[in-house]
Amino acid sequence: MNHPTVDPQRLREARDRARRDHAAAKDSGLRLDITRGKPCSAQLDLSEPMLDILHAGDHVTDTEGDLRNYSPTQGLAELRAIFAPLLDVTPEQLVVRDNSSLSLMHQCVAASFFHAPPGGEGGWAGQTVRFLAPVPGYDRHFTVSSELGVELVTVPMTPDGPDMDLVEELVAKDPTIKGMWCVPKYSNPTGVTYSSETVRRLAAMETAAPDFRIYWDNAYAIHHLRSTEAQLDPILQACAEAGHPDRAFVFGSTSKVTFAGGGISFFASSPANVAWYLKRDGFRSIGPDKLNQLRHLRFFGSTEGVAAHMQKHREILEPKFDAVLRHLEKDLGDLGVAEWTDPDGGYFVSLDVVPGTAGRVVELAQEAGVALTPAGATFPGGVDPDDRNIRIAPTMPTTDDLETAMTVLTACVVIAAAERLLDDER
Ligand code: PLP
Repeated sequence: MNHPTVDPQRLREARDRARRDHAAAKDSGLRLDITRGKPCSAQLDLSEPMLDILHAGDHVTDTEGDLRNYSPTQGLAELRAIFAPLLDVTPEQLVVRDNSSLSLMHQCVAASFFHAPPGGEGGWAGQTVRFLAPVPGYDRHFTVSSELGVELVTVPMTPDGPDMDLVEELVAKDPTIKGMWCVPKYSNPTGVTYSSETVRRLAAMETAAPDFRIYWDNAYAIHHLRSTEAQLDPILQACAEAGHPDRAFVFGSTSKVTFAGGGISFFASSPANVAWYLKRDGFRSIGPDKLNQLRHLRFFGSTEGVAAHMQKHREILEPKFDAVLRHLEKDLGDLGVAEWTDPDGGYFVSLDVVPGTAGRVVELAQEAGVALTPAGATFPGGVDPDDRNIRIAPTMPTTDDLETAMTVLTACVVIAAAERLLDDER
C-alpha cells in the first residue's frame, strides 16, 4: 500500500460512491455475518452419510477389538494409517483423539505446567513462560495462552512464514521462551505456507529452553482451494534430521473435513513426546470415542477417500473465495488503499487497510448490518498496533450474501481511508 500514490480526486469519487452504497445498506436493514471460519451447511452435508454408517453389529476392528467398551488406545490403527500420510507423519507417530485439536493444544500447554515435556525438568508452574506468536495469527492460540498464563512475544509474518532472523535470535537467548505457535500451511489468516528454508531453520535453531516446543497447528493441511497445492516440508522429519527429534508437536483435526462439532483430532510427535502425551492423557480419560473413530474409518476407507472428499469441499468454497477476491479487485484494485491475500487454501482472506482505520472499517460495517471479525482479533490481546488487519471468512455465508457483504465492506474501507487521507469530516 503506497499512500503517496493515492490519487485524491479518484479517492474522493470512490468515497462518494461508497457513501451511497453504505447508506443504501443501512436503510435496507441488512443482517450479515462474515466473522468466523465455520463450514457452511453444504459442506456439513457432504459428511451427512457418516451419520448412517454405523449399525448394530459393526463395533469391532482387528487391532482394537470391541470398540464399545473402555480401553486406552492411541487411535484406531486403520484410521491412523489413513490420516498419517496427510499430516506427513507415520502411523506410529500419530495419536487420534476426540473432536477439537484446540483442546489438545490447551491440554499440552496446561500439562506442561505440571510435567514439563521431554528435555525439561519438573513443570513450568511458578516460572515465567513465554511463547512466540507470529502475527497476524489465530486468535484462539492467543486466548489459550492468556487463559493459561503464557505471555506472548509477537513475531511478524513474512511471505515465507515467521521472520526467522528474529525467531532464532529470541529463542537462542531467552530460556523463558518455551514454545511457538505456528499455522504452517494456508496460515490463519494470511494463507502463507512456510517455505522449506523456514521449516529447516525452525528445526535446526538452537533454543535456550531445553524443553522448547513448536506447536505445529496444521489445521489446513488438506484444505486446498486451487489446483496448485502448496507443499509443506514435514516438520517431524526435519527436526529429527537436525538432531532435535522432540522439537515439534503436530496438531490437526477433521473439524473442517467432516463435522466441526463431531470430528476427530490428531496429535503427532516423536516417540518420547507421544509417550509423554499418552501418559498425561491417560489420567484425563480412559479412552477416546472409538465409535466416532470407526465412523470416520468406514466413511473414508482410504487416504484417497479423504482427498476425494476434500475436492468436494473445494468445489463449494472456491466460488466463494473468487467472489471475495473479485469484489476487492473491482472496488479497491487501483485505489492504493488496501492490500489483500489470494490464498491457495485454508479458510481466510487477510485484508490490510490504511493503517489506523481497521477499527473504523469494522464500526462502519456494523452500522450497515455486516458483522466483521473485530479489528485486532488477529493480534494478542485483540490489539493490532497498526490497526490495519481485517480477517475475512468467506466459508459460512451463501455466495449471494457474501457478494452483498463485500460491497458493504469495500465501501467501508474507502470511506475510512478517505476520512484518514483526505481529512474528511466524519
Ligand atoms: N487451528 C486453527 C489454525 C484454526 O483456524 C482452527 C479453527 O478455526 C482451529 C485450530 C480449531 O480446530 P479444532 O476445531 O480442531 O479445535
